[in-house]
Amino acid sequence: MDLSNYDSTEAFMAYVRQRNSSEPEFLQAVEEVVDSLLPFVREHKRYTDQRILERLVEPDRAFQFRVTWEDDNGDVQVNRGYRVQFNNAIGPYKGGLRFHPSVNLSVLKFLGFEQIFKNSLTGLPMGGGKGGSDFDPKGRSDREVMRFCQSFMNELFRHVGTYTDVPAGDIGVGAREIGYLFGQHKRLTNTYTGVLTGKGLNYGGSVVRTEATGYGAVYFAKEMMELRGDGLDGKRCIVSGSGNVALYAAQKLMQEGAKVVTLSDSKGFIHDPEGLDAEKWEFVRELKEERRGRISEYAEKFKGTTFHEGAKPWGVEANCAFPCATQNEISNEDAALLVKNGIDVVSEGANMPTANDGVKRFVDAGILYGPGKAANAGGVAVSGLEQSQNAQRLSWSRMEVDDRLRGIMADIHKKCVVYGSSPDGSVNYVRGSNIAGFVKIAEAQVAYGLV
Ligand code: GLU
Repeated sequence: MDLSNYDSTEAFMAYVRQRNSSEPEFLQAVEEVVDSLLPFVREHKRYTDQRILERLVEPDRAFQFRVTWEDDNGDVQVNRGYRVQFNNAIGPYKGGLRFHPSVNLSVLKFLGFEQIFKNSLTGLPMGGGKGGSDFDPKGRSDREVMRFCQSFMNELFRHVGTYTDVPAGDIGVGAREIGYLFGQHKRLTNTYTGVLTGKGLNYGGSVVRTEATGYGAVYFAKEMMELRGDGLDGKRCIVSGSGNVALYAAQKLMQEGAKVVTLSDSKGFIHDPEGLDAEKWEFVRELKEERRGRISEYAEKFKGTTFHEGAKPWGVEANCAFPCATQNEISNEDAALLVKNGIDVVSEGANMPTANDGVKRFVDAGILYGPGKAANAGGVAVSGLEQSQNAQRLSWSRMEVDDRLRGIMADIHKKCVVYGSSPDGSVNYVRGSNIAGFVKIAEAQVAYGLV
């Protein structure tokens, strides 16, 4: 058998590149994982014999569909919808839906691929998938969003189900969109099931789901810091983004006694040297969740704060960074700047926010770097808990869900330590999370034989 694909990351990537040449985001996500996994895979004959890696980089299936809907002017609009069912070795496909103009198959394959490892790390029975559309909800009325979601579900409902594939939200898909999607699914199937997560609390949602990704990224940072005998109290923190991940990361950081000095959106970032407080935080929540306005309003409202148009917050001096906006928001140069300014901790609330050369920079500099698939797993973890509650037809208390979330993040951290520790005692969280996520899936694949 020709095993030359396993000689080096370059050799394996040449194989993947040739099959996915026009998918840069997907190739980026695969390269980061393969770089960690190859030495481990080479040591395990059953993984090479069974071609587990080659099987893992090929989605089980991916489909695309037309979404036709009518805007408020009565004009017909056409968008593209997708669902990538990447891998269900350890549970039904699970992963969010993203509505954003940048959505294409490459972006969804990268997200679906990351989701396989992330979901495995949570310890819950969830496979990996992702979907979405190039539809842009920004500037659309509620009724337009409703019509779009209904039309999107008119196709998606055939492919999803509690034991098949359970979508949730992601960028551009929040409580409002999940409500419209769930309503349409219920109407089309005449079933009331846990087919989506991130549902409203009145119809089967879980407490703490909205907060979970942001809270989880902070719990993960705390775990990394505690291992070094450090904590978040008094630390200056850069947070990017102002969606629910950023908002609730900021809230938890404030509760931990840290100072949140930035937030951002696609137009720029605000810098508040004094740090957010409860009143400022509530202003941002209302601004973003209810008015869907711009973060620049923050600088107009609060004295001593500034808005930096078209810029990212990575030049602001701080102890910790929580990238919570989107992929590749930290370039190699941004990573260099963060390291130069003495950042100690980076915990990723977003998916793949750091370019691969930036990741290497963080790891080489020995900073505490929590990659998204570990640090932001809290969101999908509480989605998993929402599924458990739906299956039991029960709702757990806030304390119960939050305790479980903390426990899951601590467990993920432990797994990273087991697989990512070096003899000098340092932990490489990239290697740790990739291998720990992989082992469970690989063993399941081996057990199934060639299916
Ligand atoms: N979109 C979130 C993520 O990237 C959550 C997915 C889910 O809850 O299924 O993990």
